[in-house]
Amino acid sequence: MQIKVLLEEHEIPRQWYNLAADLPSPMQPPLGPTGQPVRPEMLTPVFPMGVIEQEVSRERWITIPDEILEMLYRWRPTPLHRAVFLERALKTPARIYYKDESVSPPGSHKPNTAVAQAWYNKQAGIKRITTETGAGQWGSALAFACRLLGLECKVYMVRISFDQKPFRRLMMETWGGKCIASPSTETQTGRAILEQDPNTPGSLGIAISEAIEDAVGDETGKTRYSLGSVLNHVMLHQTIIGLEVKKQFAKIGEKKVDVVIGCAGGGSNFSGLAFPFMADKIAGADITIIPTEPSSCPKMTRGPFAYDFGDTAGMTPLLPMFTLGHTFVPPPIHAGGLRYHGMAPLVCQSIVEGLAEPRAIHQIECYEAAVLFAQTEGIIPAPETSHAIAATIQEAKKAKEEGKEKVIVFNFSGHGLMDLVGYEKYFAGRLEDYPLPEELMSRSLAAIKDLPKPKPLRTGRWKSARADVV
Ligand SMILES: *Cc1c(COP(=O)(O)O)cnc(C)c1O
Repeated sequence: MQIKVLLEEHEIPRQWYNLAADLPSPMQPPLGPTGQPVRPEMLTPVFPMGVIEQEVSRERWITIPDEILEMLYRWRPTPLHRAVFLERALKTPARIYYKDESVSPPGSHKPNTAVAQAWYNKQAGIKRITTETGAGQWGSALAFACRLLGLECKVYMVRISFDQKPFRRLMMETWGGKCIASPSTETQTGRAILEQDPNTPGSLGIAISEAIEDAVGDETGKTRYSLGSVLNHVMLHQTIIGLEVKKQFAKIGEKKVDVVIGCAGGGSNFSGLAFPFMADKIAGADITIIPTEPSSCPKMTRGPFAYDFGDTAGMTPLLPMFTLGHTFVPPPIHAGGLRYHGMAPLVCQSIVEGLAEPRAIHQIECYEAAVLFAQTEGIIPAPETSHAIAATIQEAKKAKEEGKEKVIVFNFSGHGLMDLVGYEKYFAGRLEDYPLPEELMSRSLAAIKDLPKPKPLRTGRWKSARADVV
């Protein structure tokens, strides 16, 4: 029995896959402050040109520069595992596979895009990169990537995670990055928010505002900002995950995939695994594709499809997405990387079209799933990843009820070795589920009611799980 499917360096995919080339209905454009579509040159104070070109590209395949491949070889190709021990515990006829992105030095999928973004910045002569981080995964990935390329890195870390996860900060510092708690007193945005609520747990939206303010405020023009998820170019860089999985399935003769699952905070690890399979679905394959989210931060399953800012202060362009409103401050659940108010426009368009079927899961069910996974397969999952595992277990149980030998693959987005405090609370029975009250959601959605409205376009070829709003 083959448990691990490995690829060699020379088998690594040499191009990224761009879903925008194949979407059956086009995405709505991002809008600038005047309500007009954003022109690429408007983004130059924030991103280097190489990244902006990818952001707006409609090319299906984009070549990965050799120097980026060389950095990726430090941990890629990553293994695909058959979760035989989990299958046995569940007594399911399903074959469960997971793509192990936890083997990268920072412990998640995030360096796949961090090394690419840092490289394009370096090409453009940039010396310093700012960013935000939730659980600390993205900040540590970018600090690592900046170190490989000799760039300075400054990370605004969401306060609640900064307090709960000191080890992530130490990882960033080990790689030479600088990490401070957000909201901070170093930006206007941070100071204004602290004045209103000195005890705020912070949010990714706030931290993004601070990092952008820092980057565009550098008068030398040598600082840019980098986002770890949500934008098209980030989804693009992550597709190396799913492209490797396809080669791995081909290697073991696994011909038909039935269910593809990833947890989704801003959408990047989900997209990375799912978009190459979505291309097959668009071409007619019968595949169920499930992005999962916490019930406490349910933008994909309950948020409206609206134009909204990516950050709290409203500095980013307006993006068409499922959102809880940019002022939304999520409950303090442990899956820090899933506490974001919006979702990648590419993921949202695939939900509108019915290509992806989002699912919300409660925190405690996720920890149960994570512990079962750790006790069968061995690796301790990140709290974010546990949302993919919980959905996988739901699907494996369904396959058992139906008596079907389904093939299920999920993205093991990261390990939880830096997140054991959440496990401690779970074992002590001190974790709670936080279904989001309707009234909290309507409060933060009130802030976007006067923004322009996108017109969701879909062909009707697939049934949309959000037929209620599109
Ligand atoms: C950041 C993170 C996520 C969520 O971000 P996406 O962009 O949605 O992938 C999920 N899992 C892990 C381990 C993360 O670090």
